[in-house]
Amino acid sequence: AGSIVWLRRDLRRHDLPSLGAAAAAAGDRSVLPLYVLDPVLWRGAGDARRAWLAATLRAARDAYDGRLCLRWGDPRVVVPRVAREVDAGSVHVSRETTPLGRRRDAAVSASLAELGVDWVETGTPYAVGPGSVVNREGGEYKVFTPFSRAWRDHGWPAPAPDSRGLTLSRVGSDDEAWAKVNRTLAETELPTLPDAGEDAALTRWRTFTDGALAAYATDRDRADLDGTSRMSAHLKLGSIHPRTLLADLARRRSEGAAKFVDELAWREFYADVLWRHPDSAWHDLRPTLEGMAYDEDDDLVEAWRTGHTGYPVVDAAMRQLLAEGWMHNRMRMVTASFLTKDLHTWWPVGARHFLAHLIDGDLASNNHGWQWVAGTGTDASPYFRVFNPVTQGLKYDPDGDYVRRYVPELAHLPGKAAHEPWKHAEGYLRGYPQRIVDHAEERQEALRRYAAVRR
Ligand code: FAD
Repeated sequence: AGSIVWLRRDLRRHDLPSLGAAAAAAGDRSVLPLYVLDPVLWRGAGDARRAWLAATLRAARDAYDGRLCLRWGDPRVVVPRVAREVDAGSVHVSRETTPLGRRRDAAVSASLAELGVDWVETGTPYAVGPGSVVNREGGEYKVFTPFSRAWRDHGWPAPAPDSRGLTLSRVGSDDEAWAKVNRTLAETELPTLPDAGEDAALTRWRTFTDGALAAYATDRDRADLDGTSRMSAHLKLGSIHPRTLLADLARRRSEGAAKFVDELAWREFYADVLWRHPDSAWHDLRPTLEGMAYDEDDDLVEAWRTGHTGYPVVDAAMRQLLAEGWMHNRMRMVTASFLTKDLHTWWPVGARHFLAHLIDGDLASNNHGWQWVAGTGTDASPYFRVFNPVTQGLKYDPDGDYVRRYVPELAHLPGKAAHEPWKHAEGYLRGYPQRIVDHAEERQEALRRYAAVRR
């Protein structure tokens, strides 16, 4: 091969600048599309995440005419080995910006340099590469709104053109790696996942823009409706790039489109924060709550994890996560608030559970989403803002449909009665648990703990 395009969070064929760069470097020779299944990440992922990656890899294999080379092993060993095997002059990637990805890439590029193979980074998984949006002094934006304004002003390139005359190498995969993928997809107890891959992402995007986008600004908070794009899991593995979405949105100029651009900006903002503060992945970004007393009651946390807290909307959401590997955004806030403020648990406990199950599980968006709710992150919602799980339910699932969909024990309670099952006679609950804590009391307790550390 002339060059290798090593795919990581960019499992697609279109709008992929690193592929264009690989094609240009290869000249009249061929390009090898490579994906390395890293045992550490593979084994650490929950069932849904692993299945989502497997399905996306299969779709990418089709998109690359069956020539996606899949290898199993530590990329620091595998990538240099494949480069030698195919006598590549260069390895092309989208720049990785997470702490782990950066460390890995530094090691791989150093090994390649020893072999005389060029390491070329073109683009990132973001419209604007993390670290590129800076204030007048050249520093970072610490809060979202000024960041998002500067991010828009910075702008982004148009979608990358498809590489013409590209020849793909035919280089053998590890049979064992594809066997792992196939075995994963053949498992019977898998959560219900959406269709994976680039074509599926574009189809879903069209369905969304033809339908729910018009009312997105108002309906995006409604857990009972299919009112959001569901692009997050595609963005996570790069079966679609935000640039593609932004170029489409720019043609629309509606309130829904403007709101959607704002939401994409959150994804870019959190990636920027993580890039600047790698330690914030698992530690409080700001010392606001230093010295805070946390509990970790295994039984209570387990009730939260499995959706048995006795608060219907919290339970519906936690069960949605287990059943689908996805949870509605408003419900991510409500359940995160419940764990941190009602159960007084430090946010990484919840962040870890989410990351294990979410098919869109992303270190930057997830862990900073958690820190936002916990009150330790950027632009933090003030700590004293504690979500009320009952009123949130009544507001964002007004007819109780979301609760009934995921909590069968409450399926017989009509309309919004599903949000307050304790108002019914005990025998009426059909196995649904009593509330594990009293929200009003725990809210007061959370405020007491906050007052004790506030300076
Ligand atoms: P849409 O409403 O259609 O939004 C469009 C896109 O904008 C999303 O796909 C996403 O890329 C981006 N986006 C929207 N809201 C946010 C946000 N608050 N932060 C960052 N990006 C956003 N998002 C993830 O992609 N991965 C995660 O692991 C993740 N964990 C979260 C954990 C918590 C506690 C919270 C509060 C939020 C988390 N989010 C995460 C953000 C948000 O909940 C999801 O991006 C959204 O629910 C995905 O559904 P969608 O694609 O239909 O969203």
